[in-house]
Amino acid sequence: MTNNNNAKTLTPDICVIGAGSGGLSVAAAAAAFGVDVVLIEKGKMGGDCLNYGCVPSKAIIAAGKAAATFRSSEKFGVGAHEPEIDFSRVNDHVHDVIATIAPHDSVERFEGLGVNVIQGAGEFVSADTVKVGEQLIKARRYVVATGSSAAVPPIPGIENTPYLTNENLFELTERPEHLIIIGAGPIGMEMAQAHRRLGSRVTVIEALRPLAVTDPDHAAQVIRKMEAEGVEILANTKVNAVERTDNGVKVSIKVDDEAEGTVEGTHLLIAAGRAPNVTSLGLEAAGIEFTRKVSRQMMACAQPTVRFMRLVMSQVVRSSPMLQVHMHLWSSVPSCSGCQSTTTASPCLQ
Ligand SMILES: Cc1cc2nc3c(=O)[nH]c(=O)nc-3n(C[C@H](O)[C@H](O)[C@H](O)COP(=O)(O)OP(=O)(O)OC[C@H]3O[C@@H](n4cnc5c(N)ncnc54)[C@H](O)[C@@H]3O)c2cc1C
Repeated sequence: MTNNNNAKTLTPDICVIGAGSGGLSVAAAAAAFGVDVVLIEKGKMGGDCLNYGCVPSKAIIAAGKAAATFRSSEKFGVGAHEPEIDFSRVNDHVHDVIATIAPHDSVERFEGLGVNVIQGAGEFVSADTVKVGEQLIKARRYVVATGSSAAVPPIPGIENTPYLTNENLFELTERPEHLIIIGAGPIGMEMAQAHRRLGSRVTVIEALRPLAVTDPDHAAQVIRKMEAEGVEILANTKVNAVERTDNGVKVSIKVDDEAEGTVEGTHLLIAAGRAPNVTSLGLEAAGIEFTRKVSRQMMACAQPTVRFMRLVMSQVVRSSPMLQVHMHLWSSVPSCSGCQSTTTASPCLQ
């Protein structure tokens, strides 16, 4: 790492903010080319995918699949029966899988690759400087890979109602008796199936069509299968309000803009889309225009003083001791007005 005259200021070639799948991939690749890289992470190394996304979700889906196999083995001539499910041990399994993969994304591994990892929140303080605690960084290029978080819709009552998102769902050590899920996108539907298979009653509420971004024929097959397994899916159903009850939560709904009703459950999971992590990044201080919308497009842009790369990698495949996860980075970092949509981010790295 090159320091300039000010001992506190690091001057790497590339500074990556965010050590999720996107940031780690860039940092590892750049370091492999001998480039000076600073990688900043304010939370857990590995970001959403390792800690709150692909890995724990696929691990709990695997547990659900094992349970479903017990119930459907009759066709193989193997007596089917209802499995005994110890949800606390399912939770242990999920966290064992995360722990097995974690060294792959760890500070130690990345420092071993030659990356300077700084743990803390990165924030632009000017067009060319990022601050982490007292540490200043003036990189030649910045990569913002700060990912996304669950978007929580402004539903009346939500502020006083306990709810889960992907960030705390995988902490449950007791099975939710009746899990209500708002949002029938991929996350809502996969968690619905896994929890149903693990013995929860599950109701999914979707304002539009379930799995709306999926091919309609494929979506219909998935929906049929999930309903046959006992998942209750309420399509074209709007959530009017939510409230806390003695037993958990009550959700007031309106079906097809007509019939009103309520669904009561023990737990509420919000899986209603993603919001980019752009707050407290100081993008305004850097003069970077951005939107708060999630986009799947990879975009690149050059600002007058900061060449700023919007990193949304379309597909990365990483291997791990236990899992090979196709990581579609639905990333959600700031986009710049006037940027060109492109399939390569190279303009920012020139
Ligand atoms: C439940 C769930 C299941 C999923 N399953 C799959 C799947 O099966 N397959 C698949 O391909 N994808 C899946 N995804 C999507 C996948 O997790 C994301 O696409 C991927 O994590 C995006 O990577 P990223 O690096 O862009 O962002 P993230 O993984 O979100 O990483 C961003 C990192 O930036 C850090 N950060 C934010 N702000 C700052 C700051 N100011 N300073 C320093 N650090 C900062 C955050 O702490 C975080 O660690 C799933 C997501 C969820 C939620």
